[in-house]
Amino acid sequence: MAEIVVLGAGMVGVSSALALQANGHDVTIVDRKAPGRETSFGNAGIIQVEAAEPYPLPRDIAAQVKIGLGRTNDVFWRPRGLMQMAPALLSYFRHSAPQHHARIARVYAGLTSRASRDHAPLIEAANAQNMISREGLSCLYRDARAFEAAAKDAERIRSSYGVTSRALGGAEYRAEEPALTKTPAGVIHWDQSWSCSDPGALTQAYAQLFERRGGRLLSGDASTLSSSARGWSVRTTDGAIEAEQAVIALGPWSPEMLKTFGYSIPMVYKRGYHGHFSMPVALRRPFLDAANGVVAASMRQGLRITTGAALVTHDAPADIRQLEHGRRSLGDLLDLGKRVEEEQWFGTRPCLPDMLPMVGAAPKHKGLWFNFGHGHQGFTLGPTTASLLAEAMDGNVAAVRSLQPAERLN
Ligand SMILES: Cc1cc2nc3c(=O)[nH]c(=O)nc-3n(C[C@H](O)[C@H](O)[C@H](O)COP(=O)(O)OP(=O)(O)OC[C@H]3O[C@@H](n4cnc5c(N)ncnc54)[C@H](O)[C@@H]3O)c2cc1C
Repeated sequence: MAEIVVLGAGMVGVSSALALQANGHDVTIVDRKAPGRETSFGNAGIIQVEAAEPYPLPRDIAAQVKIGLGRTNDVFWRPRGLMQMAPALLSYFRHSAPQHHARIARVYAGLTSRASRDHAPLIEAANAQNMISREGLSCLYRDARAFEAAAKDAERIRSSYGVTSRALGGAEYRAEEPALTKTPAGVIHWDQSWSCSDPGALTQAYAQLFERRGGRLLSGDASTLSSSARGWSVRTTDGAIEAEQAVIALGPWSPEMLKTFGYSIPMVYKRGYHGHFSMPVALRRPFLDAANGVVAASMRQGLRITTGAALVTHDAPADIRQLEHGRRSLGDLLDLGKRVEEEQWFGTRPCLPDMLPMVGAAPKHKGLWFNFGHGHQGFTLGPTTASLLAEAMDGNVAAVRSLQPAERLN
């Protein structure tokens, strides 16, 4: 048994703490906020078994021109944001070449394919079944050509990775989704994915489970981490705590914090927004409006619209153009009702240029471990990479092969 401190109480940190605790370790989580209040709070809540392939940067000129001219709602960019992230974006572009992406996707599919199985025992033990729907995720296409191409691609995904889906004509889908007020061209329905009606509350429920099982949750600043005679020390509001091992699970804040330890970790920060609407009829299942790059999901707070990626500087003020675009376009398919009054939320997907989460031993420090960089699918993959990390920390380093920092940082 080791004493371990996990820094970060998002889905990744809390899941890591649970997995380490299950392996018999004495675990403390430290976060400056309550669990699940940052990126793990405001996402679309999909446990994305369908996400066999991580998002590459488009390599074809037509798609690049569309992004460059601001003609797609999937990606929004500002020159200063691109400049700040230039080295990471270049590396992301290189890793997006088809031969690299194919290799990366094989690793990624191995993670996402087990994600719902890894969440299942936690959902049950945390008594959180009432937040989970197993109805799948739909991708809705507004024009017939896009639908045909998506149906072909879904068949490719099935034969390559075994991820199943149904292709439905618009009228057929409308019969399954009474909330639609207009018939789309067609829908690909990914039936293995799950969704959560309150991702922040699920993270919190996992944290409560961790505490019920004897774990400690303390408030403190991760940037006070320093090496000590025992291993690691971090200051909390309950005083300094010591541990033999420390896990960095600070999501998009991980690279900044690790600078002080001499690590230069390139990250593409993809900001996303959400807004809630009082929609009178709940959706049966969440869907992606493919033409407009937004996801619509019924949540406890109302219909949540989440946006694609905004490549902006860390300190850029909220700019809700993508959300407004999503509201207008979805207003055409659904009776959205009124915008719920709330403080404008945004969060940042912590994306590493090679599209894989970084899980394993810190190359330059004994007893320091990483588990961050889950990009678009950290809510999905929290329990999965947590279980791999716990195995690696108990000596089975092969569990994190392909995800290890040592081979990826130079
Ligand atoms: C709009 C949007 C939609 C998304 N939709 C989905 C989806 O449907 N499915 C999916 O799988 N993923 C989705 N994601 C991605 C997912 O939300 C993230 O990958 C995931 O939440 C990352 O979790 P994390 O635990 O690594 O980070 P976080 O949840 O951000 O947790 C990091 C924690 O570190 C703490 N912290 C930071 N700095 C310090 C410090 N100095 N001291 C102490 N504590 C600190 C923070 O308070 C926070 O609690 C979406 C993301 C966005 C933005």
